Amino acid sequence: MERNKTIMKLCYLQTALYIVFLISLVAHHKYNRNGKIFALLVILSLVGCAVSLTLADYLRTMIQNSGFDVAGVHDKKSLEKKLLQLQNADDTLDVGIMMFDLNNLKKINDTYGHEQGDVFIQTFASYLTRILTEDSFLARFGGDEFVIVQNHATWSQLEQMNIQLQTMLDAYNQTADHPISYAVGYDISCKNHYYLIMDLLQIADQKMYQDKRYKKEILAGKTQAHFRSRLVESISTESLKEKLFTILTNSNGEKKYAFLMTDVNNFHLINDYWGYETGTDILNFILKKLELFPKTLFVNRYHSDIFVSIIDITGQEYADVKKEITAYNKQTAQEVLGSYPVNYFSLNTGIYYLENGQIPCDEIISHTNIVRRKAKSSLLGVCEYTEEIALEEQKRADTIHSFQEALSDKEFQIYFQPKINGKEQKIASAEVLVRWKRSNGELWFPDSFLPILEETGEIEALDYYVYEEAFRWLAARKESGLKLIPLSLNVSPVHFRKIQTFTRKVMELIQKYQISSQYLIFEITETTYIHNIESVNQMIRFFHDQNIRISMDDFGSGYSSLNTLKDILFDEVKIDKRFLSDDLTEKGKIVLQEIFHLLKRTHKFIVCEGVETKDMVDFLVEEGCDELQGYYYYKPMEMKKFEKLIA
Ligand code: C2E
Ligand code: CA
Ligand code: CA
Repeated sequence: MERNKTIMKLCYLQTALYIVFLISLVAHHKYNRNGKIFALLVILSLVGCAVSLTLADYLRTMIQNSGFDVAGVHDKKSLEKKLLQLQNADDTLDVGIMMFDLNNLKKINDTYGHEQGDVFIQTFASYLTRILTEDSFLARFGGDEFVIVQNHATWSQLEQMNIQLQTMLDAYNQTADHPISYAVGYDISCKNHYYLIMDLLQIADQKMYQDKRYKKEILAGKTQAHFRSRLVESISTESLKEKLFTILTNSNGEKKYAFLMTDVNNFHLINDYWGYETGTDILNFILKKLELFPKTLFVNRYHSDIFVSIIDITGQEYADVKKEITAYNKQTAQEVLGSYPVNYFSLNTGIYYLENGQIPCDEIISHTNIVRRKAKSSLLGVCEYTEEIALEEQKRADTIHSFQEALSDKEFQIYFQPKINGKEQKIASAEVLVRWKRSNGELWFPDSFLPILEETGEIEALDYYVYEEAFRWLAARKESGLKLIPLSLNVSPVHFRKIQTFTRKVMELIQKYQISSQYLIFEITETTYIHNIESVNQMIRFFHDQNIRISMDDFGSGYSSLNTLKDILFDEVKIDKRFLSDDLTEKGKIVLQEIFHLLKRTHKFIVCEGVETKDMVDFLVEEGCDELQGYYYYKPMEMKKFEKLIA
C-alpha cells in the first residue's frame, strides 16, 4: 500500500512537470518558427498529463478500496467484512476479540494539533502490529479504538499479547513526550456458535470500558509522577493494580492465577558487603529467572528487592504450585551462589491465589505482602495466603477497631495469680494479669491481643487501666479493713519511650488511691531491659526513690549475658517458665542452681514462674527460691474467686 501511495505522489509530480513544460512552450512560441514541432510537443504534454492523472486516480481508488486506514492498519469497513465472514463461517470456536482504547487522543489533538494526534495513533498502531501473529487481524475501529480478531485464540495467548504490548509501551513511555496508555478488553468464543460474533465484540467492549473506567479513577487521584520516573525496572502500585485488574476482569472464570511477591533474604547485607553493583546484578538476574518461571504472565520489580509476578496455575493443585515455587527459588539461589561472590542467599515468596475475582486489587497486594513477610520465618521460605491467615488478619482488624470502645465499656478485667512464699508455702503476693471479656461472651487471653495493641501503641492506655483497676481494688480492701496483699504489675515496653509521662501518670494514680508503696511491684521483662538499658535504669531509680520494687520478668528468655547481672538495679528476678518446661532434667537443675547461686550472692529476690509439679516445688524450695507461681498452685483467677481465696 505504501508503494502505491508513493507512485500516486509521483504521478501528481509528473503532471505538475508537464503543466510547467506546457506553459513554458506557450510562452516561447513566438520565437519558435517550427509550428509542427510546437503542436507535437503540446499534444505529447497533454497526453502525458492525461496518463499521469488517470494513473493517479486509479491508484487513489485502489487505496481507498484496499481497506486500510491512515494508521496503516485495516479500517472499519474491512473489519465489518471480516466479522461478517466469521459470522457466516461454519465454525466460530476459539475466535478471540481484543478491543483497545487509546487514552488521551483528544487531549493530544486539542493541545498539539491533529498532525501530532495522527503520529500518536500511528505509534500505538505500530506497537499493536508487533504483537500480532499469523492468525491476527488488526483494524482501527474508528477514533481511538482498535480491534484484534484472533483466530485459534487461547486465553494465555491473549494475555501474553497484552503483557507484551504493555511491556513495550512501558519501555517507550520512559522517554516519550506523550506517554501511551490504553484500556483493553478481551474474550474468546468458547463453544461452537456459543457466541454470535457481535456479542463477542460487545463483551470485549464492555470489559474494555470497565478497564478504562478503573484506570481513569486511579489516574484521577495521582500525578503524572510515575511516567516521569526513571526507575526503569520497578512498577508503581497503581500500575500493578491496573495489571491485576485487567487480568482479573478478562479472566473467563475457568482460568486460575496466583499472584506472587518474592524478595531476597537480608538483601541489604549483600549491598552493604558486596556493593551496590553486585546487588543490582543479582536483582536483574532474579528478574530474568522469574520471567522464565513456567506460565508466568507478568513479572516486575515492585520496590527495593521485592518482585511481583502473576502466574497461570489453571489445572494445578495448590500444593503443587507451592512445591514448584519452592524448588524454583532453591534452584535460583543455587545459581546466584554459583555466579556471584555471595556466600549466603535465599528467596522468600508469598503466594495469593486469585480465585474470587471480586476482591479489590490493593487488598490482594497487601495480603500477599503479609505472606511474603511470613515466608521469611517459614522453613521453606514460601507462604500461602490461607483462610487461617485471613482470620488472623480479621482478628487483628477487630482488635484495633474495637479496642477504644471495649476500654470505655470496661470489657477488660483483671485476674490474679497468687505467688507462694517458698518457706511458708502461703500466698505472699499476686500477679495481676489482664483478660478481655468480649461482648459476645468470648474470653481473650493477653497473648492474642497484646502484641497487636503493642504495635499500635494502645497498650499504653490498657496498662493505665489495669493499674487503676488494681489500685481501686487495693483501696477498697483498705477501706473495708480487709487484708492487703502486694500486687505485681506488668509494664509494657512502649512506656520506655516516654518515661516522664509514665512515672507521672503512675504517681497520680498512686496518690489518687492512696496506695502504700510496699504493696507494689512493677515487672519489666528482660528483653525490654536489654533494648532500653538506660531508660529502664532511669525508671528503676525513680521508683526506688518512692520505695517501689522492680522485678525482672522472664529472666533467661532473652539474650542478656550473666555479665549484665552485676549491674542490674532490679530487686527481684523472675526466672522464665521455660527453665521449668516439661520435666526438669539433671542438667537443667545444675543451670538453675548456678543461677540461684549467682542471684543470691547479688542479693536478688528470686521468683520462679510456671511451676507445675510437686517435683519442681521440692527442688526450688530446696534451692532457696523465695516465691513460686504456677498452675501447681493456682491458675490466674477472677477477682471474686481470689478474694474468697485470701479471705
Ligand atoms: P507473664 O508476665 O510472663 O505472665 C505469666 C503468664 O504465664 C500468664 O499468662 C500466666 O497465665 C502464665 N502462667 C502462669 N503459671 C503458669 C504455669 O504454671 N504454666 C504455664 N504454662 N503458664 C503459666 P497470661 O495471663 O496469658 O499472660 C501472658 C502475658 O501477657 C504475660 O506474661 C504478660 O507479659 C502479658 N500481660 C498479661 N497481663 C498484662 C497487663 O496487664 N499488662 C501488660 N503490659 N502485660 C500483660
Ligand atoms: Ca509478668
Ligand atoms: Ca513472666
